[in-house]
Amino acid sequence: MLDFKLTQPQPAAQPGMELEQEASVYDLIIIGGGPAGLAAAIYAGRARLKTLVLTGSLPGGQPSNTDIVDNYPGFPKGIEGPELAQHFRSQAERFDTQIVLDTVTGVDFSARPFTIRTHTTTYQAQTVVVATGAVPRRLGVPGEDKFFGRGVSACATCDGFFYRDKRVVVVGGGDSAVAEGIFLTRFAREVIIVHRRDELRATKIYQEQAFANPKIRLVWDTVVEEIMGEQTVNGVQVRNVKTGETSIIKTDGVFMYVGMVPTTELFIGQLEMDDWGYIISDHRQRTNVPGVFVAGDVQDPLYRQVVVAAGTGAIAAMEAEKFLGEYPHSQIDKEVTVTCD
Ligand code: NAP
Repeated sequence: MLDFKLTQPQPAAQPGMELEQEASVYDLIIIGGGPAGLAAAIYAGRARLKTLVLTGSLPGGQPSNTDIVDNYPGFPKGIEGPELAQHFRSQAERFDTQIVLDTVTGVDFSARPFTIRTHTTTYQAQTVVVATGAVPRRLGVPGEDKFFGRGVSACATCDGFFYRDKRVVVVGGGDSAVAEGIFLTRFAREVIIVHRRDELRATKIYQEQAFANPKIRLVWDTVVEEIMGEQTVNGVQVRNVKTGETSIIKTDGVFMYVGMVPTTELFIGQLEMDDWGYIISDHRQRTNVPGVFVAGDVQDPLYRQVVVAAGTGAIAAMEAEKFLGEYPHSQIDKEVTVTCD
């Protein structure tokens, strides 16, 4: 289990309090406590930067909601996602990084020191690493909102237990859908994976495991049009995209794994993003704002792996350290130009 204790934050400024610049301005604030943010924290801590991590509401990030991480180097037998997240955190804390379970509500990157606000506190930092990750995409069909948390879920690790000996539908054909579908067979008597095409996007090893699992049934070329039920879910209406035929699949629960959406709303108008909302950076993890770096899934529409997120987190922290060495104070920012490819 995760053991994320609340750390007392060290505010840059409280309402009505005079700002104590020297004592309160962090060298680096990391927004996000997933693999990218915590890897950045490890590197920043070892560089002896005065560092704060604001984890948001899911400390540990996506691994906290993942059953087994099978492909993070160094764990030959795989490792449970929450345990890996805890390792990241313990390692960051060993180097005196301050980790606070708090959610950022606003940022101002227009001048250094940068300002980062949560519901209760305003912080300041000379550099920032944005590592806010991505959240599961919603299907956008009738019944999804109504039954969310009452039969509709995007987290098999959290909710799979409630489906012992029941039948569940998993929507999607990527790694998440297939890996979590396999995980759900520990509980459910039948797992029906509904996929919109006739081949899976998931890695071959997951495909082999799914095809060999007698509890898993695949429904191809099919989309979910509605999630149905009374108090809880009792079925999904689906449509075959090739024949146009509609039908109802009876089910006790629906797990949606139809991709991710980057968490970038906070940064609109401040950081450059692509058409899909991913933050644009160069190969040194620099954004268009000098002193603000980015790491992990929030800037990665392609790979989205724990090892990649951790790698970009390490780069971002090393670049922040370098930047602080070159530009320790606010005034010279206008001399720095970053061009993102
Ligand atoms: P993903 O790879 O983007 O797959 C999303 C799936 O949902 C695709 O099969 C897609 O169909 C389907 N989909 C998208 N929108 C849909 C809609 N509106 N209706 C029905 N189906 C829809 O997302 P993911 O599986 O969450 O994986 C995200 C990233 O994390 C990937 O890079 C993945 O490799 C990584 N990941 C890795 C592991 C691991 O163990 N290595 C585990 C989990 C995730 P199409 O195929 O037709 O596009």
